[in-house]
Amino acid sequence: MYLKNLHLRSFRNYSEQQVDFTAQKTILVGNNAQGKSNLLEAVELLATLKSHRVTRDRELVLDGTNLSKIEATVERAYGTSELGLILRKQGRRTVELNHETLRRQVDFLGVLNAVQFSSLDLDLVRGAPESRRNWLDSLVTQLEPIYAHILQEYEQVLRQRNALLKKIVQREEQPSLTTSSADLKQLQLWDEQLAAAGSRVTRRRARVLARLTPIAQQWHHCISGTTEILKINYAPNVTWTEDEPDKVQQAFLTKLEQRRIVEQNQGKTIVGPHRDEIEFTINQTPARYYGSQGQQRTLVLALKLAELKLIEEVVGEPPLLLLDDVLAELDPNRQNQLLEVIGGQRGVDGKINGFQTLITTTHIGSFNHQWIEDAQIVTVEAGK
Ligand code: ATP
Ligand code: MG
Repeated sequence: MYLKNLHLRSFRNYSEQQVDFTAQKTILVGNNAQGKSNLLEAVELLATLKSHRVTRDRELVLDGTNLSKIEATVERAYGTSELGLILRKQGRRTVELNHETLRRQVDFLGVLNAVQFSSLDLDLVRGAPESRRNWLDSLVTQLEPIYAHILQEYEQVLRQRNALLKKIVQREEQPSLTTSSADLKQLQLWDEQLAAAGSRVTRRRARVLARLTPIAQQWHHCISGTTEILKINYAPNVTWTEDEPDKVQQAFLTKLEQRRIVEQNQGKTIVGPHRDEIEFTINQTPARYYGSQGQQRTLVLALKLAELKLIEEVVGEPPLLLLDDVLAELDPNRQNQLLEVIGGQRGVDGKINGFQTLITTTHIGSFNHQWIEDAQIVTVEAGK
């Protein structure tokens, strides 16, 4: 796939800007705080409808305005599509495909695919479990856009069930009130919905990780050049033995039953995929706590390359690669490996393909000449 152009209106520090991408590699050069990452963020939003930097749209809209619009032309093997995303300071988003407003987000997702790799990604290894869940969710969404809907459904049930549990706790703290049987009945209804939605989330996460793992292991082996063994272990909060939808759901309900008293004391849901963990180990030691900086970087790079390959495999076309400030952090050897992948000279499966890549940097001088060769160089200054 190819991102042909991007048009930003009142987005972050951009008033109005059109960018035409004319090469496989585009290098965005500029001093700090000029708008390089903002531009990548706009592309990330079109690909995933999420930004890894913020959760609320109000921060994305240019100060002093109420509405942003991001538009892009994407060329795919099946034809050209026009994407439009309207973000508001207040109120809901609008998504457009070929200038028509869509009712469902799932029809927007999947037109553009992108893998983002930024210095923040070390959090993927070092950070809290939530960073790993968000990373995996974003990957699953790109592979199976319907997952965005499944996840939303789960989060909604979770919120409502938590509100009820909180109400039950408050009642118990006031001796004059007792928990009504209506509340308990309601809780049981939420249990069933939580188990149904939660098991859909969990099973999809497991499936995608199982596909990603061997590719990541191959890359890890390739980049580290050692015999270190990478393992990726999905540790779902609810475990199951047989991967049948109703078996997983049953396991969920059983665990809810076991934890009912604790949940009713704590006033929140402690069972479900919002408590899942994804563990990375290198030679059987957890990379999160014991990995050296270099090992953690190698791991993240292997994961990102595996994401690229997996998306390409599933979607049938190479996704975009967004590199935000990471090159300077990679040693020359890893830089070259990445360059070969981008240029299509290297792949774990030996297949020749390249990835359209947008790269940000403050110093173009820090790149070796191979990076700049054939690249389009765009200077970013104060939102222009
Ligand atoms: P660095 O090299 O430091 O990473 P950058 O070029 O990537 O810099 P960005 O993160 O893209 O910088 O842009 C940051 C600039 O955008 C800051 O000056 C910030 O104040 C501005 N900015 C962010 N959000 C908004 C907004 N909603 N309205 C106006 N300006 C904004
Ligand atoms: Mg930046």
